[in-house]
Order: sequence, then structure tokens, then C-alpha cells
Amino acid sequence: MMTTGKAIIETGWNLDNSYARLPKTFFTNQNPIPVRSPKLIILNDSLAASLGLDVQALQSKEGIAVLAGNQIPEGALPLAQAYAGHQFGNFTLLGDGRALLLGEQITPLGERVDIQLKGSGRTPYSRRGDGRAALGPMLREYIISEAMRALGIATTRSLAVVTTGESIMRETDQPGAILTRVAASHLRVGTFQYVSNWGSVDDLRVLADYTVQRHFSEAEAGTTPYLFLLQEVIKRQAVLIAQWQLVGFIHGVMNTDNMALSGETIDYGPCAFMDAYDPTTVFSSIDMHGRYAYGNQPHIAGWNLARFAETLLPLLDANQDQAIKLAQDEISKFTELYHYHWLTGMRKKLGLFNEDMQDESLIESLLSMMHKYHADYTNTFRALTFDTQSDNALFCSTEFAQWYELWQARLDRQQEAKASSQQLMKSSNPALIPRNHRVEAALDAAVKQGDYSVMKHLLNVLSNPYAHSPEQTDYSTPPARSAHPYRTFCGT
Ligand code: AMP
Ligand code: MG
Repeated sequence: MMTTGKAIIETGWNLDNSYARLPKTFFTNQNPIPVRSPKLIILNDSLAASLGLDVQALQSKEGIAVLAGNQIPEGALPLAQAYAGHQFGNFTLLGDGRALLLGEQITPLGERVDIQLKGSGRTPYSRRGDGRAALGPMLREYIISEAMRALGIATTRSLAVVTTGESIMRETDQPGAILTRVAASHLRVGTFQYVSNWGSVDDLRVLADYTVQRHFSEAEAGTTPYLFLLQEVIKRQAVLIAQWQLVGFIHGVMNTDNMALSGETIDYGPCAFMDAYDPTTVFSSIDMHGRYAYGNQPHIAGWNLARFAETLLPLLDANQDQAIKLAQDEISKFTELYHYHWLTGMRKKLGLFNEDMQDESLIESLLSMMHKYHADYTNTFRALTFDTQSDNALFCSTEFAQWYELWQARLDRQQEAKASSQQLMKSSNPALIPRNHRVEAALDAAVKQGDYSVMKHLLNVLSNPYAHSPEQTDYSTPPARSAHPYRTFCGT
């Protein structure tokens, strides 16, 4: 018998398909459409290892074929998920139009995570789209999702990006690419909206039970698992949105199909980080009315959660008036919960360990000064952390001098030493965020010149945002104020 002499390395795929065992109306079985000549652009070694996947095997021809959708890994049952969603407030039937769930990887720690290919070709939900994705946006998702992870914010992860060797038509021809996304699940508010509109109450119960089991298994023992499901989803969103606000992250398309029930940030389209503090900041080119502006994100999250609660009404109580009351009571708690997490986080950003009635007004007056003087959000907190107020308009103002005295007096009223406060601030105020001009420079070098070194260096400095290391200083400079506001584009 002929042998190649090469040892065959097992990749380590350990896939289960619990979603594929749900009612058939929830999805469509669909294989990826093969691509011409896949090339691995970036692989997330540490994520691969934590999934129990062999990095070397993933880099082999066979490994890359899987990441490109040219080969189906053992145990996979590829499918496109059906979902609906309110897009900018309008309800639409959607579904995975350019993504496929390969299966759920059971990790060495026994966790279950979705493995999804994004950009893997047309599906029955593609509508007029080509089912493909361009290299720039897929690398953008890779960079921002990994940066969010490093910031300590729940997020889907990026395992790899491969180019397809095919070009796709956008405004200009673009290299095609596929991202392998890893998520706690792809259950969305929109998944429930889909089943609530087009399925039976039994289907809805199956979906709710599945969601509880997958993400909130502690709820099973309770006598009101569906109310508990609503409460838990609300709790996780309150934490998540507070974290977004605290680092200045703007999602850009908070449609109900882009809100994951796991509490992870999902679907990095036209997202970006705010430089100068301004609650009206919008980056997305299609967000004409500022629906998803920075300052509006908590309100929109509440709105999306209300849409989620509506889908659960048939399960909450046989008496629909009672069900509505239960749902409204829970939804009304979101604002307060969100505010609690935001305030807790803001206190940490200012080095405060305990609570004082005046804290909120102290924080609000700092933010309104930052707004007035166009101060950079991240760098203002960093300067306060290290007491290195430079000669910008904010720090030179008398208003700030007065505020600073109040803040110092407040710090003096707590028992902890200044050094402990500074430590708290260092771990609550990132040295850097993925600045838009840095991300664009990395994507430009990658897409236009095939030079991935800029992106890799950026990923490296972003991987430990609380290190406050000297090499991060360079990356913390905000862009020069430009006549043209920064714009991001969706669904490309
Ligand atoms: P998004 O705005 O990325 O959340 O996408 C909204 C919907 O459009 C989802 O159902 C996507 O699957 C679908 N979609 C986005 N881009 C494409 C594409 N190029 N081809 C097919 N469907 C797409
Ligand atoms: Mg989406």
C-alpha cells in the first residue's frame, strides 16, 4: 500500500447538530457553494486551541478547504437559519442570506459553540444578494470582534478569514472572503419573531425551551421558565449595552435580527468607536435619522427587548392580559438595570469604589464638558487615570478645574488610597480602542496591497487594552478632525 509518508493530523472537529434537530421550518439544509482558490489570510491560533482544533491541521490544504466551504468537516450538517427582524423599525422576513451554520463544536471544556461560515454563498434567504462577503468587511469583523473580546465585552469570535480567489461586485470589484464566526449561538430576537409569526405556539415553546437549555439552564428548575428567559435576556443586554457605552462602541445596526439572546455582541457591520464624545455620533451611511446613534443605543435595546417580550406572550400566561402585564413589568426594569451597570462602570472609570448620591451629577458634568469641548472620550479618561491632563480645550477650561477639585474631594472621601483608585481606573479605562483611522489603514494595506502586517500589528496592540504599555501610545492618537465625518457601510 502506498503511503505519503506524512502523518495525518486530525483537525479536531467535534461537531453536534442540536439546531438541526429543531423543527424543519426553523432552517433550510444547505451546503456552502465551493469557491475557486481559497487562501488563508488569518487564523486565530488561541481561539482554535480553545476549541480543541489543531492549528497546523487548519492551515493545511484540507483545513483551509473547510474554512472556505469547499469541504464539509466530519459531523457537520450545514444549514441556513430562518429569522425575521425589525430593520430600522420595519418588520421583514430575513434568514441567513450569506451564512451557514456548520454545526456546534463541543470544546474540550464541554462548551457548545456555533461554527458559522459567513460569505459562503447563496441560500434560500439571500433575496437579491450574492451570498458573498468582501475581504475588507470580514477583516473588519475579525479586528473589532477580537478587540471587543480583549476589552472584556461579550462577543462572537472570529476563527479565520480566507479569501476565495473570486472577485465580487460591490461599488468596485472586491476580493471575496469567508469569515469563520464562533458564537455561543446565533439565536436572535429575530429568531423568535420568525417563529412567533410563521410558526405554531408549539414551535415557539420548542424554541424557548431550546434557548433556555442552551443559555440559561439554571432556569429549567423554575416553574416559570419563559418569564425567567425574558428576565435573563434583559439582564444580559443591560450588562452588554452598558459596556458598549462605557467604551464608546457604536454597533451601527441594532436591528432585532442583530441582537443575540446569548448577550454577545453580534454582526459587526457598520460599527465603529467614538473618538470625540458626542451622544449623537452615527457612523453608518444608511442611518439617516440617528436611530442607532451612540446615545440612543440603550433606548433601542429596550425597544428590541419589547419586541422579544411580545413574541413570548403566548408562553407567559394563558390569560393574555396577564401575559402583557408580566412582560411590561419586566421590560420596564431594563432601563433601571442598564443604568445601574452604566453607573457602576462609570464610577470605576473615575476610580470610585463606593457610592455617593452626587456621583451621577459628577459624571454627567464631566461628559457634558467633554461634549462641549469636543474632547476625545477614551483619551480623557486615560489622562484622568494618569493625571496627565494636556493643554487641550477641556483641560484648560475653568469649568474643568472646578470639576477636578470636586472629583479630588470625592476621591478623598473614600477609604481607599489614591494608588488603589488609579489601579481601578487603569483596569477600567482602556489605553486604546480600535480607532477608525487605524482600522481603515489596516484594511487598506490588506485589501489594496495584500500587506497584512499592519493589521497584525494592530491586533497585537489591541489584544491587551488595559496594559497601558508604551507602544500603545502611538495607537491612541485620535484622527485629525476632518471636514468629512467618518462613514461606515453595511452588508458589504
Ligand atoms: P445584516 O445587515 O448584515 O444584519 O444583514 C441583514 C440580512 O441581509 C441578513 O439576512 C443577511 O443574511 C442578508 N445579507 C446581507 N448581505 C448579503 C449578501 N451579500 N447576500 C445575501 N444576503 C445578504
Ligand atoms: Mg445581521
